[in-house]
Amino acid sequence: MSDPNPCLDCGMCCVHFRVSFYWGEADDAPGGCVPAGLTEKLNLHLRCMQGTNAEPRRCVALEGQPGGRVFCTIYDRRPTPCREFPSHEADGSPNGKCNELRAQIGLPPLRPIAAGQAA
Ligand code: SF4
Ligand code: SF4
Repeated sequence: MSDPNPCLDCGMCCVHFRVSFYWGEADDAPGGCVPAGLTEKLNLHLRCMQGTNAEPRRCVALEGQPGGRVFCTIYDRRPTPCREFPSHEADGSPNGKCNELRAQIGLPPLRPIAAGQAA
């Protein structure tokens, strides 16, 4: 059995980064999927998730409190930066930035997992 998903009691990346992406990923563009109503225009080419462009950051799509039970309300429609920020690398080693962020709220460091098991 694999370990439970460590992101479900973390959520720190959703309150730390400005989550910006090409505007065409939003669902008011052909083929886009990110709910446009949850985004903010940055410039001609980029949007970001609302709540991530100012301090304190907190993505509008995050449900719950970091360090408690959290989930992304648009998980299947989340933008590229969220899809490309893994808790573990392809070789199974923990993402060092995750461990940095987790330490800020007293969460234990991620452990290595088997190569190829990264979500
Ligand atoms: S473990 Fe990493 S990817 Fe998962 S929620 Fe925490 S900071 Fe984000
Ligand atoms: S879209 Fe979802 S995964 Fe991405 S920052 Fe917001 S809550 Fe987190």
